[in-house]
Amino acid sequence: MTNPSRLAAALVAAGAVPPERAPAIAAVAERYAAALTPEVIDLIDPADPADPIARQFVPDPAELVTAPEERGDPIGDERFSPLKGIVHRYPDRVLLKPHHACPVYCRFCFRREQVGPEGEALDAAELAAALDYIRARPEIWEVILTGGDPFLMSPRRLREILGALDAIAHVAVIRFHTRVPVVDPDRVDTALIDALAAEKAVYVAIHANHPRELTAGFRAACRRLAAAGIPLLGQSVLLRGINDDPAVLEALFRGLVAARVKPYYLHHPDLARGTSHFRLGLGEGRQIVDALRGRVSGLCQPSYVLDVPGGHGKVPVGRSHAEPAGDSGEWIVEDHRGTPHRYPPAGES
Ligand code: SF4
Repeated sequence: MTNPSRLAAALVAAGAVPPERAPAIAAVAERYAAALTPEVIDLIDPADPADPIARQFVPDPAELVTAPEERGDPIGDERFSPLKGIVHRYPDRVLLKPHHACPVYCRFCFRREQVGPEGEALDAAELAAALDYIRARPEIWEVILTGGDPFLMSPRRLREILGALDAIAHVAVIRFHTRVPVVDPDRVDTALIDALAAEKAVYVAIHANHPRELTAGFRAACRRLAAAGIPLLGQSVLLRGINDDPAVLEALFRGLVAARVKPYYLHHPDLARGTSHFRLGLGEGRQIVDALRGRVSGLCQPSYVLDVPGGHGKVPVGRSHAEPAGDSGEWIVEDHRGTPHRYPPAGES
C-alpha cells in the first residue's frame, strides 16, 4: 500500500483518519515514502487526534517543513560507504543493506531519503562485492543487516546471505534490525526462523516505540524467535508526543523485557528532514530518561544515545551520576533519589 492516493483512501476506508485529511496525507506521501500494514492500521485510535501509533506512521503535513539544521543523511552513512550496500563506520563492524524497502515507513526515520519501495535492492554482483568486502577484512567481527527491513526478504534470500556470512571465519556475530515482529508479526513464521539458523551468533534487534505496539501477535513472534535460541534486543527512538513521558517509557521497556526483548538503545531523534515536530531537546530527553532510574530495574533500561550528526558515531548522552570531588581523588556519586554520596579514591577504601 504505497501509492500516495491509494494509501490515503485506504486509511479513510479503514476509519483510521477522517476523509478531509486524505489530500494532505497523499501530498506528504508524494515526498516521503509511506506504508502501513493492516496490523498497524488496526492499532490506530481514530478518536484520538494525537494517537501515538498514527503519529508514527500516518503522513503529516508537518513533514513538509524542513528545519535549517536538518539533512538528508543525518548520521553520515554516505561518508562511510565504500561501496553500495556497505557502511563501515567502526573498524570491527559493518552495516550490510541488501535492500531498501520496509513494511511501514516511520515518519521520523533517519534514512527516510534512502528507504522506500523504489529503493534499489543489491543485485547479485553488488551483493557478491559487499560480501567480498567483508571477507577481505579480518577486523570485521560483526555484520548488521539493516534498513530497509531485512525481514522483508524471502527466506531463501535470507538463508543465502546468512550462509555466506556464516562461512566467513572472522565474522562472529550477525545482527538483524527489524520492525517486522511489531508491524507484521505473522511474517515471523517457521520458514523465516529456519532461515536464521547459523553457526555464528545471530541477534535480532526489534524497533518499538510505544507500549501499544507490544500486541499479543508481537509477543508470540518474540516467543518463536526466542524458542529458536535467538537473543532479542530492543531499539526505540525518543519521540515528542509519542513516548516523551517516563510512564510511557516504563510501560514500553517493561513490556519489551516481559516479551524476552532486552532494551538496548534509546535513540535521541536524528536531524532527518521534516522531523522537527518529533524532536525534543537533549536536556529534556535526559530528564525523562533520568526519571526511569529507581523506577525500573537495569534490565529495563537501555542506553540513551545520540548519533553525532555528520557520521561521527554514537555517544551516550544520559546524565552522569558520578563526578570527581575536586582534586581529592574522591568522587561524588548520586543515588536514584538524587542524594549524593562520597566514594573514596582507589586503594584507600
Ligand atoms: S522500519 Fe526502520 S528503516 Fe524502515 S522506515 Fe522505520 S525506522 Fe526507517
